[in-house]
Amino acid sequence: MASLTTTFTFGPHDAYHCPSLTLRVEAQNIQVSFQAGTNAFTSSDFDMGVLHSLYSRPIIGRLTLRYTYNEVKREITVCSSDYPSADGMTLITMPQDTAEACFEHAAPCGFLADECYKNSAWNYHSQLMPGAATYMKQVVRNANDALIEALRNIPNLTVVVRELFPKLEQAVYHDLCVVFESGVPTAIYNPDLHAVLGAHQAVGLPESTFAGSATWATNSPFSNVNGSTSDPKPNRETSWMNVWRAVWGADPAQCSSYHFNGYNCNGNLIGGHIIAGMVRQSVTRGSNDVYIIPICNSHNGTNQYMEVVSNDKAVRLTGYLNSPAGLFRVEKQTL
Ligand SMILES: [Zn+2]
Repeated sequence: MASLTTTFTFGPHDAYHCPSLTLRVEAQNIQVSFQAGTNAFTSSDFDMGVLHSLYSRPIIGRLTLRYTYNEVKREITVCSSDYPSADGMTLITMPQDTAEACFEHAAPCGFLADECYKNSAWNYHSQLMPGAATYMKQVVRNANDALIEALRNIPNLTVVVRELFPKLEQAVYHDLCVVFESGVPTAIYNPDLHAVLGAHQAVGLPESTFAGSATWATNSPFSNVNGSTSDPKPNRETSWMNVWRAVWGADPAQCSSYHFNGYNCNGNLIGGHIIAGMVRQSVTRGSNDVYIIPICNSHNGTNQYMEVVSNDKAVRLTGYLNSPAGLFRVEKQTL
C-alpha cells in the first residue's frame, strides 16, 4: 500500500539561555510518512540544547501526532495548532539517557501535573528556567503550522484541518440547528416557533456536523449535492457561508470555479453543498462526503461539474443531517 510522504521544515529558533538551561533549535527537516487509516506519527530525534542543571545532559526533542489518511479520496486530516485534542502535535523532550520526559501540546492545553511536574530534574515550567515553557510552545506550534503548510503544497491532496466550531451570532447559529421530529429532520430551530421543545423533538447541533477547514488541490473536480428531500431547508447555503467566513476569516473573492470551461459566473456567492467528482448526486443522511465551498448562485444547482479554479478553501462537513444521538422517541401506538 502506498504511503504519503513529505518533509516539513521549521526553525531555526533563537537561543534561550539561563544558568540551568540552554535551548537552541536549529532548522529541522522532518520526514513524514503517512499510512492509510488513522495512525500516529513519531519523528526522529533532534537536538534542543543542554540541561546544565542535570550534569549538562543534552536535551532531545521528538514530535508526535495522530492523523487520518484516506488513500482513496487522497485526503489527510490533522489538527490545527489551536485544536485542543490529544491527537494534535506534541513535542516530547527529555534529557538524554534519562526516563524524564515533558510533553508540550501545540494547543494551549495539557496536563502539566502529569506531563512535566512529576519529573525530578526536567520541568521547563519550573521557576528555575523562566520563559522556557513559552519557547517550547513556540517550537511545537511552528512545527505544526509548517506541517500543515507542507501538506497543502502536495499536489492532488485535500488537506482537512480539524478546528473548533467558530463562534457565531446567535441568530446565525440558530439557523444551523436542525429540529428532528421522531428522528426525522423537519425544521430549522427558531426560538420564536419552538418556545418549548416537545418530548418528540430533538435539536441537532452544528458542531457535530463540522469537521474543520479543508483545502483542495487546484483543478480538483466537484459537483453539487442534490437537495436532500429530508433537509428541512435545503437552501441553507447562506447560513453555511457564514461558517465559511468565520473559519477562513475573509469573504470569498469570486466563485471557486470562476469561468471554468467558459461558464458564465455571476457575482452572487453562496456556500454550496458539494461533493468531490464530476457527477452531481444525492447523499444519504450521515454522509461524510459533503463540503461547503463558495460558488456563484448560477453554478449552484447546475448539473455541470466544477473545478477548483480561483479558490481552494472549503469547510468539511461530517455526518450530514445525522439524527441527534442516533436516537428518536417512538410514539406509543394505540391498538
Ligand atoms: Zn460560478
